[in-house]
Amino acid sequence: MSIIEVKQLTKVFGHDTGRALPLLEQGWSKEKIAQEVKLTVGVNKAEFSIEEGEIFVIMGLSGSGKSTLVRLLNRLIEPTAGQVLFKGKDVVKMNAEQLRQFRRKNIGMVFQKFALFPHRTVLANAEYGLEVQGVEKETRTRRAMEALELVGLKGWENSRPDELSGGMQQRVGLARGLANDPDILLMDEAFSALDPLIRKDMQQELLELQSRVKKTIVFITHDLDEALRIGDRIALMKDGVIVQIGTPEEILIQPANKYVERFVEDVDLSKVLTASHVMRKPELVRPERGPRVALQLMRDSGVSSLYVVDKETKLQGVITAEDALLALKENKTILDVLRREIPRVTPDTLLNDLFELMSETHLPVAVVDESDRLKGIVIKGAVLSALAGNAVPEGGAN
Ligand code: ADP
Ligand code: MG
Repeated sequence: MSIIEVKQLTKVFGHDTGRALPLLEQGWSKEKIAQEVKLTVGVNKAEFSIEEGEIFVIMGLSGSGKSTLVRLLNRLIEPTAGQVLFKGKDVVKMNAEQLRQFRRKNIGMVFQKFALFPHRTVLANAEYGLEVQGVEKETRTRRAMEALELVGLKGWENSRPDELSGGMQQRVGLARGLANDPDILLMDEAFSALDPLIRKDMQQELLELQSRVKKTIVFITHDLDEALRIGDRIALMKDGVIVQIGTPEEILIQPANKYVERFVEDVDLSKVLTASHVMRKPELVRPERGPRVALQLMRDSGVSSLYVVDKETKLQGVITAEDALLALKENKTILDVLRREIPRVTPDTLLNDLFELMSETHLPVAVVDESDRLKGIVIKGAVLSALAGNAVPEGGAN
């Protein structure tokens, strides 16, 4: 179920901003509106929904409207038009008290500049959000401690921020956001000020944290790598408009227009795409069906080998047409002639690693899950084609 649904959400900055709405309706661009009527379009008719538990990334160059959009979600910025539905309830229509409750219980925010108080301890910083809400001391300490533990800062609660590294300070900011235990966490360029290596660590930790606490996260970044690494889905913005929303693969493999294409053209696909993106459906046979049926299946589907799986689709091996003929002649079973030594990888194997493996074998590579169930196979052509930036060929993916 969607936790947030945004409809025609628009923000215009300036004087008497309603003037811009009919112009946007007629398709005027941000640039034209700025020139002709001296108004700044922050967000232009954004429309999307966010699913419960996903990491939804909003990406775009500086000035594209990311911060405005994310602040419209909790109404730190008042929309000029449109709706923000939280579990079906319109945030735009909430009165002051409802909005206060909404921000207190449902939606938290983590900023780029960690906004820590230097004279306060780590614990007092993590408690801050609860404190402003008037939560009593004992409860807020307990919740802040839990949040600090979640972000790996247990033992640091009595330190001051300046005793901590940049990455650790950002974790305090994150703990402050989590202490509230909100349904949705908004993170505006939360990692952008960090050194590259620390930043990568934080991205990894956020993913791990997310898998434990299952929060819905709206993550803003201007960094494509970061977006691809952590986003379940990415919304790409330009001049206040969302130009594409999709999974990282969709954005990379099917860019919606020239702008997105240019944005992603320098991405090293081999470090982003995985076996799951290029695998195709294998032709299967169960061993008890025997070599005669196996041969018939090969003929019917025009292949020279079949993947042999058991009832739970666990991979047993491969049988070739030659092997099946031999079995038939010598009255043997499929299991007698099966080739069990076949290359296998997990679905999250990067094309980079896959490519190396494939140079050592002439067989397609089997993609299996952690229980050895066959999910698909990868042939060399599909890897090459994906690396060249082409859509996965027919019959590919899933
Ligand atoms: P981003 O976060 O993607 O860098 P912003 O949302 O901050 O972009 O800004 C989007 C556009 O709105 C920019 O053109 C910016 O100049 C303008 N803008 C943002 N905040 C204000 C404001 N308070 N008053 C006027 N214009 C603003
Ligand atoms: Mg911003």
